[in-house]
Amino acid sequence: MRMRLKQELFLQASITMLENDIPSTITIVRTISDVKNILKLWRNDNLNVGLVPTMGALHEGHFSLIKKSLSLSDRTIVTLFVNPKQFGRNEDFDKYPANELSDIKALENLSVDIIFAPSTEEMYPSGNITNISLPDIGDLLEGEFRPDFFTGVATIVCKLFMIASPDLAFFGEKDYQQLIIIEKMAQDLNIPVEIVGCPIIRSKDGLALSSRNVYLSDNERLVAPLLYKVLNEILDNVRNGEQLIKILNNAKIKLLDSGFTKIDYLKICDDKNLKELGNFSPNARILGAAWLGNTRLIDNIGVN
Ligand code: AMP
Repeated sequence: MRMRLKQELFLQASITMLENDIPSTITIVRTISDVKNILKLWRNDNLNVGLVPTMGALHEGHFSLIKKSLSLSDRTIVTLFVNPKQFGRNEDFDKYPANELSDIKALENLSVDIIFAPSTEEMYPSGNITNISLPDIGDLLEGEFRPDFFTGVATIVCKLFMIASPDLAFFGEKDYQQLIIIEKMAQDLNIPVEIVGCPIIRSKDGLALSSRNVYLSDNERLVAPLLYKVLNEILDNVRNGEQLIKILNNAKIKLLDSGFTKIDYLKICDDKNLKELGNFSPNARILGAAWLGNTRLIDNIGVN
């Protein structure tokens, strides 16, 4: 069936099947119209579709989302797109660690059906001005420190939902606020997609995997797992009934004393609306963002 599909597509649409050095058994799609053509064929065959949006520089965290999609969907589309709209002026857009060729090889090994890797012009042609923003929930936590970030994320994810009309879409709890925001956007805009949240994949020492971990120096890499450790200590202390404000202050001091250079936030929030909690609740999420030199780490844990 897949072979037939590829042949049909090759005839019907100008799909990039092969590029220099790129493995031949995976379909790489560069244009929105080609994705839509493929989707039409899949829909005719009543196949359900899973979407995994990524910015590339893939690691085991991404692979866990992709494997989940492969297990729950008939067809899986992985997107590789470093979305300029979600980077602030002084952020790392220009040096984001993209490596398309090694990503494509990894995706081929996983037997992903389609890679959608559009250009910036394809996604944001000149004159494209519409944004999706979520005030309030998008202004908290990450939004306070990265003011345009969630507008960039919500806009690109909304566009991908419109382009691929997936039945399921997979997002990591690593970016917990992002997951909540995408769920809310899909609900508010009546987008018929089921959002599947996937657990955080960590290194053995507890550090949450992230494409940006490559920025860490050897020394910073040794200190980095402390963020996860401290989140767990906060949880233990909260369970022991200590005062939240005191627990969080002590945790910040510990991070700063151990090599972290700045704490953007360390908060205990409601796990649905992300408002900071004054008292512990079983529906809490502990979230933190902290800097090690020039690298910003984020992490979070649930309390259940
Ligand atoms: P990114 O490429 O950083 O935009 O991430 C793409 C998707 O992978 C997002 O849904 C992330 O939350 C998810 N992700 C990134 N790192 C991890 C991780 N360590 N564990 C689980 N999911 C992750």
